[in-house]
Amino acid sequence: MRDFLIAGNWKMNGSTAFNAELVAGIAAGAPKADGVKLLICPPFPYLSAVAAAAEGSGVAVGAQNVSEHASGAYTGEVAPSMLSDIGCEYVIVGHSERRTLYGESSEQVAEKFKATLGACMTPILCVGETLAEREAGSTEAVVDEQLDAVLDLAGIDAFGSAVIAYEPVWAIGTGMTASPEQAQDVHEHIRARLAGHSAEIAASTQILYGGSMKGENAPGLLSKPDIDGGLIGGASLKATDFLAIANAAAEV
Ligand code: PEP
Repeated sequence: MRDFLIAGNWKMNGSTAFNAELVAGIAAGAPKADGVKLLICPPFPYLSAVAAAAEGSGVAVGAQNVSEHASGAYTGEVAPSMLSDIGCEYVIVGHSERRTLYGESSEQVAEKFKATLGACMTPILCVGETLAEREAGSTEAVVDEQLDAVLDLAGIDAFGSAVIAYEPVWAIGTGMTASPEQAQDVHEHIRARLAGHSAEIAASTQILYGGSMKGENAPGLLSKPDIDGGLIGGASLKATDFLAIANAAAEV
């Protein structure tokens, strides 16, 4: 069995009471299969409380963003060391909403990736094309540019301690999931791009799919050889929906 990572990106949702119920539901129903790891990524203010609630359950906690800087005069930002200090194990970097709404460039995302590793956490690097880019036939070129910025700055060895999430922008929050074949094609391409630098690291890097993943479409996606889990937005806000995806991974 492959090792799957099923990661929930709660985005800007939740409250103290909502989160407590969600974490308890996820922890109680997490599949016992060895090869399925669950991760939840709440908004910054709730990270400590969610990490405390998840402790001992095997469910890991991660952040949705991080500063590329270590400390100093960066009002409103959160340093990598602060996240590891409160128990985060993963950080999502380069989510398409960060790239589009907050103007994060591939170079800045690469800096965040490197800073996350520097604080002993695992970056989840998001890459993916818009619908216009897919229709123009430039999916691979877009993904390559996003990946290469990180490879240039951090090097291939960094991917030995990182996760990639292929998230076609047109599938995020739209209900329009990539077909298993469409997703597999891009995942295979990403792995081949890494293999151009190191076959060994390419073979072991987890590549998640994200974009309207649900219990119904998860089995088809997760059965593809290069899809090693999911980065899930909407369906991570309800324990039964999130667990349906986790259970699909346990059954592959
Ligand atoms: C996401 O936010 O990364 C995501 C994939 O969202 P959704 O599952 O809602 O499409």
